[in-house]
Amino acid sequence: MSRYWSPIVKGLTPYAPGEQPRIANLIKLNTNEHPFGPSPRALEAIREETSESLRLYPDPTADALRRSLAARFGLSHDQVFVGNGSDEVLAHVFMGLLRHEAPIWFPDITYSFYPVYCGLYDIAYETRPLNDAFAIDPRDYLPDDDSRAGGIIFANPNAPTGIFMPLADVERIVAANPHCVVVVDEAYVDFGGESAVTLADRYPNLLVVHTFSKSRSLAGLRVGYAIGHPELIEALHRVKDSFNSYPLDRLALAGAMASVEDEAFFRDSCERVVAIREAMTQDLKALGFEVLPSGANFVFARHPDHEGAALAQALRERAILVRHFAKPRIHPFLRITVGTEEQCRALIDALRAILGR
Ligand code: PMP
Repeated sequence: MSRYWSPIVKGLTPYAPGEQPRIANLIKLNTNEHPFGPSPRALEAIREETSESLRLYPDPTADALRRSLAARFGLSHDQVFVGNGSDEVLAHVFMGLLRHEAPIWFPDITYSFYPVYCGLYDIAYETRPLNDAFAIDPRDYLPDDDSRAGGIIFANPNAPTGIFMPLADVERIVAANPHCVVVVDEAYVDFGGESAVTLADRYPNLLVVHTFSKSRSLAGLRVGYAIGHPELIEALHRVKDSFNSYPLDRLALAGAMASVEDEAFFRDSCERVVAIREAMTQDLKALGFEVLPSGANFVFARHPDHEGAALAQALRERAILVRHFAKPRIHPFLRITVGTEEQCRALIDALRAILGR
């Protein structure tokens, strides 16, 4: 630790991203990428952009992409903010909307970047445990006479559990907390959840965050966005313009635009993933796993007789990567990304061999 470091950096525990292996031929089911690749129209748009105009700066307002996203949801472009992946969007959200006197609230098991941003921006927080079924209990997020949140954030479907909270419960939380911003991180919503975007026009304190990394299979392009009331979006623009006035580069803008325009491809590729998820869930259950109900492109599963860490290691020795979290309560679980049919078959075969069945 250097004496030149600021106190904030000294106290930081950075987020540990899932492994991106250097060796080829691994079956990579550890970071929830989409197995089938992006829309061919997105790839073509990116190729065209390369030869055209990289000499020039991109549009600092990302206007065309924001309009096209807004149109998809029947909203206006001043309700849309875009950034380099939803991680960056979330960084701006924590800085611009969640830093107040009162602590913010989020589940104790959720996307592990949230406490990291709290450390980075010096934001106090309180966690609420998941219930016995590993779900978020909406009643834990209602204010009472003694406590009101400085802000609320949760992932829906939640990560890494994959469990989805019904829209009526999300609305209950948003409606009960008009004094603060409620952020719903919907990174996985296209694989089976109901999006809270439909509530955006009714609740000025609601912000919904989406990504192109999962359902649009563009994790490498780094595009995410937030939808909410124009006043919330303006706050995010103020923060962004104080860091870097270009939210997205030209390749990202071109690829993301073309992806949004290819709605049929998007729907079809999400449906394929959901069908494979359901088959994989049945196969895991047949091997004795308990699988939490998933609305995402991954499943969270544990075996009554085998530790999660040992299973993850045994799979790794068979060149299959899955995610294991060495955290209280969830350490028996594996988080397994839905891959192609062949990859999931290889996973099930490997588990069968490891379990000796
Ligand atoms: N939110 C959740 C719940 C996630 O799991 C992820 C992916 N790690 C993200 C946000 C960030 O995704 P990206 O930055 O690729 O948009």
